[in-house]
Amino acid sequence: MPVFDHIPMGEDGLKEIYQWLDDWVVQNASIARKEVIGRSPDGWDIPAIFITDKAFPNDDKQIAVITSGRHGQELGTRVVGPEIIRYLGSNEAEEIRNTQVTIVVPVVNPEGFVHNEFRSSRTSLTKTERLALGGLFKAFPPDMMIDFHSLGKSAGSKYDRGDMEVIIPANTTRWAMDEQIHQYVAREMQKSAESAGWPYEIHTLEDLAAYYFGDTEIGNMPWSYLQEKVFLLHMQDFYDNYHTPEEDHYTNYTCGPAYLKWHTLVFGMETNHYALSRAGDIALSGLVPCSSLLKMGNTRFPWEKDRGYPVNILHGDFRISIRPLGGNASERRASRIRIWNERKNFNLPQREMADQETTVARVRYFGWDLPMEFALCLRMRQKNIQSVTTGGRDVKFESFEDGCSSFVYIPIRMEKAGTIELIIKHSYD
Ligand SMILES: [Zn+2]
Repeated sequence: MPVFDHIPMGEDGLKEIYQWLDDWVVQNASIARKEVIGRSPDGWDIPAIFITDKAFPNDDKQIAVITSGRHGQELGTRVVGPEIIRYLGSNEAEEIRNTQVTIVVPVVNPEGFVHNEFRSSRTSLTKTERLALGGLFKAFPPDMMIDFHSLGKSAGSKYDRGDMEVIIPANTTRWAMDEQIHQYVAREMQKSAESAGWPYEIHTLEDLAAYYFGDTEIGNMPWSYLQEKVFLLHMQDFYDNYHTPEEDHYTNYTCGPAYLKWHTLVFGMETNHYALSRAGDIALSGLVPCSSLLKMGNTRFPWEKDRGYPVNILHGDFRISIRPLGGNASERRASRIRIWNERKNFNLPQREMADQETTVARVRYFGWDLPMEFALCLRMRQKNIQSVTTGGRDVKFESFEDGCSSFVYIPIRMEKAGTIELIIKHSYD
């Protein structure tokens, strides 16, 4: 049975959800706490529910944030948040509680909720969102984030109305294979939903712009929206006075700033409160892709050194990349954010196979954030890595494997700006 088998409406509906949250937190006090992270313009609390097993140190945990109910009339979002919260207290979510701090903000926009109206902004984050979420993210910069929305009978797609549910790997870029990585993860979420009986689509940012916004008339391409929506993906230029949307009000998606500031793995979600006429179905269909992603956060992706969300290729590609350092989730997050914000000051790292037993790798850092510490990571055909040297000196390295190759992971500390060259020796097989 889902938490809510009806859509809570109006002031009473909001109070009903808030009462359920309070009761749930009391009943699950060993793993949950509530924090009011802001207030709506008309004075309603905006609660966030933190769920994690306190027996494990937070430094070893990743941070996952799930927001819902930013747009008041998107009725489906009302039942998804509580369903995810209940799931996070279940036996199935034990490993998620052990390895992640999951923060669910079930009603970001209580004013819109009460009035059953949008009461938000189409082009920027609202002041309320900036204050509430900004404060939360300052203390808990997310490794993963999902922002739940909901389509209805007429809202949403201008050509396919009333029925779609969508996973949105958007507000990312093509930098460092991120678009491919988000697609990879979205496909896994879609497969989980499919096996639970929920047909989801995967739509990118361009899909969104082309499909969703504007009038239903044929030939009415919403150019201004198109400009806005593809801005992040294609127009990001560090040398062009670019500011993150959070500073410039460019987007109404919370995911964009999180990606740009912290290299967060970001997903939008659209449930559907028209085609799914039973509230419980909306809750369950919303939960499945979310729980699928949370569970992926406990696994090691083939190209990642450690278990966790795949957010550690910060420059380059799967073959040669710049990655964070750190012995636990918290250190890796700090290193990741630091390097990510310096990524424009690295050249694309290079590799060259000098002969069958030798690979030469070069990386250049020309920024001022010194000493710069990062790892250079190469995917190798050869399993047997014999040595890594620079200027004739041995360099310590680690290695890990995927299904058919190995990765050599080389921690580097650069005292001053310049180029470092590494010689990797390996046998043929
Ligand atoms: Zn929305």
